[in-house]
Amino acid sequence: MQHPRYWINTNENGLYCEALDAYIDPVNPVHRAIITHGHADHARAGHGEVYATPETMAIMRIRYGEEHAEKQIELAYNDKIALNKGELIFKPAGHILGSAQAVIDHNDHRLVISGDYKRSYDPSCASFEVTPCDVFVTEATFGLPVFKHPPINQEVNKLLASLALFPDRCHLVGVYALGKCQRVILALRELGYSKPIYMHGALLKLCELYSSYGIELGNIVPVNDVENLKSLAGEIVLAPPSALNDRWSRKLPNVMTAMASGWMQIRARSKQRRAELPIIISDHCDWPELLQTIEEVNPQEVWVTHGREAALVHQAKLMGYEAKALSLIGRSEGNDDD
Ligand SMILES: [Zn+2]
Ligand SMILES: [Zn+2]
Repeated sequence: MQHPRYWINTNENGLYCEALDAYIDPVNPVHRAIITHGHADHARAGHGEVYATPETMAIMRIRYGEEHAEKQIELAYNDKIALNKGELIFKPAGHILGSAQAVIDHNDHRLVISGDYKRSYDPSCASFEVTPCDVFVTEATFGLPVFKHPPINQEVNKLLASLALFPDRCHLVGVYALGKCQRVILALRELGYSKPIYMHGALLKLCELYSSYGIELGNIVPVNDVENLKSLAGEIVLAPPSALNDRWSRKLPNVMTAMASGWMQIRARSKQRRAELPIIISDHCDWPELLQTIEEVNPQEVWVTHGREAALVHQAKLMGYEAKALSLIGRSEGNDDD
């Protein structure tokens, strides 16, 4: 009973680890949950005990209230905790602030559940840490060879170029509140954009949280505080994707709609969002990064969760690994997470 296949299984609540007697990112309320990060399809309210990084716990309190779980146990990166018959350590996943890989040790075997993760540049969170293990559990959100994400600076430069070309248009950019929003702001700042960045109220709290962890976002102004909305011509306004084409956005002057998402690589998706300016920015690995990570972790076995499982399982086998798909329910694509 050494191998993780004997102490990990899936059921209607999600991925269950018998060694720790805990679920990882369960879709229903459970007695003990290990939460890899704060996106809504991973972090839910109503668990008995929650184990998460301090940042993830803070995100959950913002989204679900102080009482989101009966017991909240914060575990910083690299701290070790004994649970039931095994041990748990969090390692950075490079996905969003506080995002973690769950490293589980039991019976001299190590299983790593990487959660959502990426390898490309992101100053808004700690970088992914390669952790050798027997079994590596990976997502496959962009697990097809067609997915290659361009560098973020190249994409954000498109926004700045458009602003220079159309200085009278209010550039309204759809961003998810957790991760994408802060990354776009940091990229703009790194490219030298020092003007105020205007923001829909729904994005404010998480930006404040990032700032409280020392991530400098510069001058941010809530759109609600702007007296004359006409003055937003030629400015950048960030809003949740749902606000791009609704009544809220109609009060802005001469709008140019942009959308920042990994899915903007697919023309049909950008049309669906009615984004004039699609900006390809993903918080997940693209195909080359997935393969690079599997090679670097170099496990005996690769288990693939949500996304394009089949293609990645096939590729991992070609690379000489044992591989299988874990069928997990309840991981939506592109809700507040892409
Ligand atoms: Zn996810
Ligand atoms: Zn996520």
